[in-house]
Amino acid sequence: MSLAVTPSASDLVQERRLLTEIPGPKSQALQARKVAAVSNGVGVMLPVYVVRAGGGILMDADGNSLIDMGSGIAVTTVGNANPDVVAAVQEQVANFTHTCFMVTPYAGYVEVCEALNRLTPGDHEKRSALFNSGAEAIENAVKVARAYTKRQAVVVLEHGYHGRTNLTMGMTAKNMPYKQSFGPFAPEIYRVPASYPFRDRGIKGPEMAEVAITRIEREIGATNVAAIVIEPIQGEGGFIVPDPGYFRGMADFAAKNGIVFIADEIQSGFCRTGDWFACQYEDVVPDLITTAKGIADGMPLAGVTGRAEIMDSVHPGGLGGTYGGNPVACAAALAAIDWMERNDAPALAREIESIMMPRLREMALQFPAIADIRGRGAMIAIELVKPGTMDPNSDLAATLNRYCHQHGVVTLTTGTHGNVFRFLPPLTMPRHLLEEALTILQQAFEEATA
Ligand SMILES: *Cc1c(COP(=O)(O)O)cnc(C)c1O
Repeated sequence: MSLAVTPSASDLVQERRLLTEIPGPKSQALQARKVAAVSNGVGVMLPVYVVRAGGGILMDADGNSLIDMGSGIAVTTVGNANPDVVAAVQEQVANFTHTCFMVTPYAGYVEVCEALNRLTPGDHEKRSALFNSGAEAIENAVKVARAYTKRQAVVVLEHGYHGRTNLTMGMTAKNMPYKQSFGPFAPEIYRVPASYPFRDRGIKGPEMAEVAITRIEREIGATNVAAIVIEPIQGEGGFIVPDPGYFRGMADFAAKNGIVFIADEIQSGFCRTGDWFACQYEDVVPDLITTAKGIADGMPLAGVTGRAEIMDSVHPGGLGGTYGGNPVACAAALAAIDWMERNDAPALAREIESIMMPRLREMALQFPAIADIRGRGAMIAIELVKPGTMDPNSDLAATLNRYCHQHGVVTLTTGTHGNVFRFLPPLTMPRHLLEEALTILQQAFEEATA
């Protein structure tokens, strides 16, 4: 394959086009090399090898154009290879690639922190710190909360996902594939019930918060808890939107007991759900907020932002890392954030919701396997059951996924039981491609249930 200079992704034709089977012969050859060269532990969901991407399209090595309903798991929110981001990255990479902010700093890092402090909920004084990945942001949020409170316990939720490092694996609920055979896990992590309206048999949000709080008081002791870490909408757990009052109930309990309330907005943040941050929907102001994924259009960057007195309670040198807040990643983030502000990105996410929801509701009338439709903005999912029961139907999710992939739509499944079909389109997705992706999903259902 040649590395011929290709025009910018912005002029990638916005059209689904299949020239070969999926994956095509070039992708299959690359996948054979992958198997021989890359650890088996690194799984691949759909082995089409991408050469270009932009708007709502991924183009593969065989020249196929697929509709991207995943955004690399909620990362390329402003569109893959967004031209503004590309220009900012090119300029920065030609100036300098790295100094290590802790050795000789640069303005981009400070500017990303200023943007995070300005955009995250709450008018209080804030500070931020930058890292390389979501898991690293969570690790550091926990470090800060422990330093500030001088307590150790960390409370997390059932169905929660926080990463793949040792601490964040322990904080994650699901065993396969994240934790199996990787223990022992870090101590002082406690899991309490989440609000999962579809499966809670009518238990309301405030009531479920009481169940979780009672558990904390009885089994841990509120005065031992450094932090409660919650995703406002649970991502890998299955796009679970808590019943109203749950999130607020947990935040109020934390505030009353000197516990640092941490919103993990790594997947739900940066305009994904129709607000800048998902916790704004519940009017909750977290003490700390972790960000990553959508922040920098795919360049590795993550942040922890929160109350100045908490963030500043750590001794100098206690936070950091060689690459954290890399200048190229910061330039990408500033361009992505600027794009979101100029294009009213939350409104774009709400528009995607307004197109998807009626179509999915129509499908649910036709296909009783769709038992729940949920999510906000451009973070939408359907939960699949065996018709007439509440039993998770992960086989159907896998069948639908296969059909969509073979027909040129990149879709993702999720959920503790693998029975949730999720949609995370980029906010640059053209309407005709979004409609087409839904039509192919409809056909997938028709074929699977025929
Ligand atoms: C993806 C994710 C993480 C982990 O981020 P990485 O960059 O993969 O380490 C943590 N929390 C949530 C909610 C996520 O979706």
